[in-house]
Amino acid sequence: MLRCNTRCVARSLEDVGRRRRTPTVRVPGIVQVAYSRMINVLAIPALVDNYIWMLIREQSRDCVVVDPGEAEPVLAMLAEQGLQLTAILLTHHHGDHVGGVEALLQHRSVPVYGPARERIAHCSHGLNGGDRIDLEAAGLQFDVLDVPGHTAGHIAYSGHGLLFAGDCLFAGGCGRLFEGTPSQMLESLDTLAALPPDTLVYCGHEYTEANLRFASGVDPHNRALKDRLRQVIQQRGQEQCTLPSRLATELATNPFLRADNPGVRQATEALSGQPLPSRLDVFTAIRRLKDAA
Ligand code: ZN
Ligand code: FE
Repeated sequence: MLRCNTRCVARSLEDVGRRRRTPTVRVPGIVQVAYSRMINVLAIPALVDNYIWMLIREQSRDCVVVDPGEAEPVLAMLAEQGLQLTAILLTHHHGDHVGGVEALLQHRSVPVYGPARERIAHCSHGLNGGDRIDLEAAGLQFDVLDVPGHTAGHIAYSGHGLLFAGDCLFAGGCGRLFEGTPSQMLESLDTLAALPPDTLVYCGHEYTEANLRFASGVDPHNRALKDRLRQVIQQRGQEQCTLPSRLATELATNPFLRADNPGVRQATEALSGQPLPSRLDVFTAIRRLKDAA
């Protein structure tokens, strides 16, 4: 069973932050993958509001990064913590998720996993939904999920109770539909929503507060949402990372996962000024309202 013990790692990473004079390094937790194998999952803030996720096998100091939008903060963390990069995982082709790959490969040649259906420079292992990857050095295995919508070939990585969702599912929201249709995205979100409710969700961006503020408009009577927003405002006031979230929390408060909820439908119909007979209609309208927000 997985455990998340935020305080323990937060302390050591605060120390890192102090030494580097970069108080922006925040740690979401330590996850115990198996009995004697401790995996730390670190959030490395990058660019404007991206997170690069770093998974560290404590025993060996081997690590994996997910969606390195830039190399510099990853290289700094590797040096600072004496870590060895063993693989790079990519969810989709956008520059803020792949921009650091080339420089990281110059530092060390490692396998780069990414969506087979997207053209990404330096991607050495193209993956499709249903594939399973075994990152031996880091002691991790992940199932690959096809989650198109934000981009046409977007994939997510699920394993050990962790979900690396890229820009498909956000805390309190979902990605914009740059290359896909609403029905594709809804199906992708259904795939993720079917994972165990205690799954920890690691997203590509710190969008939680803005997402939940918007969510309050389309789900105005949701007490769990109100409570979550209050908590997230407090966290952001202290520049804390709001991730990972629990899938159960998303199911209870993320309007894009609640298009079948009568209260959400009613509020969305009122805001968009038209009847929304199907769940897909409600989802499409919420996405449109969010795009215009
Ligand atoms: Zn993206
Ligand atoms: Fe992004």
